[in-house]
Amino acid sequence: MRPGGLLRASPPAARSIGGWLGNVRAALLSVDGCRICEQLLTEATRIPICNDCLASFRAISDTVCDKCGRPIEGADTSDAEAFVCPTCVNDEWGGYAFERVRSWAIYEGVLVRAILLLKFENIDPLGKLFARWLAQLAMDGGPAFQADVVVPVPLHRQRERERGYNQAALIAKPLAKLLGLPYKSVLLTRIRPRPDKHLLSYDERWESVRGAFATRPGSQVDNLRVLLVDDVMTSGATLDSCAKTLREAGARSVIGLTVARAVLKNAAEHLR
Ligand SMILES: [Zn+2]
Ligand SMILES: [Zn+2]
Repeated sequence: MRPGGLLRASPPAARSIGGWLGNVRAALLSVDGCRICEQLLTEATRIPICNDCLASFRAISDTVCDKCGRPIEGADTSDAEAFVCPTCVNDEWGGYAFERVRSWAIYEGVLVRAILLLKFENIDPLGKLFARWLAQLAMDGGPAFQADVVVPVPLHRQRERERGYNQAALIAKPLAKLLGLPYKSVLLTRIRPRPDKHLLSYDERWESVRGAFATRPGSQVDNLRVLLVDDVMTSGATLDSCAKTLREAGARSVIGLTVARAVLKNAAEHLR
């Protein structure tokens, strides 16, 4: 939330002190209005996004691939078997190293801007809100989503130093607390930075994360079920690479949760 702005609140003439204090609090907290549409925030909230904008996020309600979590419109789910998308059925390319991934909403519109706020402005309350949604996803997922530790997808050390924080950690830390699990950002590290190029093709995405992660020397990963957390899943390359690294270090399984999911026009695009 941006600091500053003058507070203009009327004295508690005819109103109760409690109500007046509530209004003062709301005014203090919402002086800047919604950071996305700029309408005045009417509720006392530390999340700088109005309810209309929050309501515009499109939570994924379609049937999703049981493995990669990709929403499949009009999927035939008539048989009782879990639905698996063509990408995950086809194992010629080796398949994803994670057990399963779920995302809360489609990466589009207002949510893209909300994630940018988290990414570049360190808006902690937004991370907590996202964590609540992901906790719900994990609980809805039942036993398949039980884990032993929560780990954020790491940034390269240099990138984290420049930015001052890791946005995935802003989500993963409160999520661990909500799920009553240990938060272990120390388990995984990024040893090669993402290329500086702003937009990466799908091939470049896969290329840029191959071998980019490592478990920290001495970290105990053996037999752990790891819940890996990130803000957005695009091609799945990052989560796959992290999962591969953790599995190679002895993790029993890796489950991914992301706030948003970029829906590819052509699922085959990211197959190699
Ligand atoms: Zn708004
Ligand atoms: Zn799939």
